[in-house]
Amino acid sequence: MTTHLTVRGLVIRETPVHDADKLFDLFTENGIVTVQGKSVRKAGSKYGAVTQLFAYGEFCLRQSGERYYLDSAVSLNLFYGIRNDLDALALASYFSELIRKTATDQPQPQLLRLYLLSLHHLAEHDRPVPLIKAIFELRLMTELGLMPNLIGCDVCMEHLPAKPVLRFEEADMLCKDCLPEPQPDDLFVTPAVIQAARHVIFADFDRLFQFRLSGESMPLFSFYAEHYLRHRLGMQLRTLQFYHELTDAGAPAP
Ligand SMILES: [Zn+2]
Repeated sequence: MTTHLTVRGLVIRETPVHDADKLFDLFTENGIVTVQGKSVRKAGSKYGAVTQLFAYGEFCLRQSGERYYLDSAVSLNLFYGIRNDLDALALASYFSELIRKTATDQPQPQLLRLYLLSLHHLAEHDRPVPLIKAIFELRLMTELGLMPNLIGCDVCMEHLPAKPVLRFEEADMLCKDCLPEPQPDDLFVTPAVIQAARHVIFADFDRLFQFRLSGESMPLFSFYAEHYLRHRLGMQLRTLQFYHELTDAGAPAP
């Protein structure tokens, strides 16, 4: 039986098949679907642009058995601003790998929203790339229910300690004076890092990217978000390694 459906989705992976066809993964509000596009790699195909990596569009699909086929599509945003920017492309690929490894069959509209917002700022070049990366990482953890507990010091409940310490294993925060045995992993940060992390965890999507960090707080926040995610997910991320090889700063030091 053949069924038809219309979905909005972001192309997060593409694989050439046959002479001019393509298989592409569409990330939608309801998870990931793999679609076969007939002849979309032919010169002059009107669906060439909308089926390329990091294109967002509305797709009319035909389901036959286990497989989806492309009938037609309209592009909604091609994010041109990232296409000539290697750092942005590497980061967008890292986001794709994270989504592929964490998406489920359950509806996750907020993950698609987070991804689209991040691509928007990458394409507009209106936020530092490491900030976009850190926001994506920490908010992804939040949406997956894996956020740290940063309400206050886990011992004395101080809301915003002058010398906060972030812990990865415990996924919490302490004041320096409440720290029992210092561990090599303990990350000494600034109060601004705590405020930024809370903002990313709790803010509405409309305001998610509306903050700035300066001085030492930016590399500390960036380090925290990446290492927190790696600690919680415990998986090798090939695209993250590539991103660090590309961005000459490498992994930001605490
Ligand atoms: Zn304390």
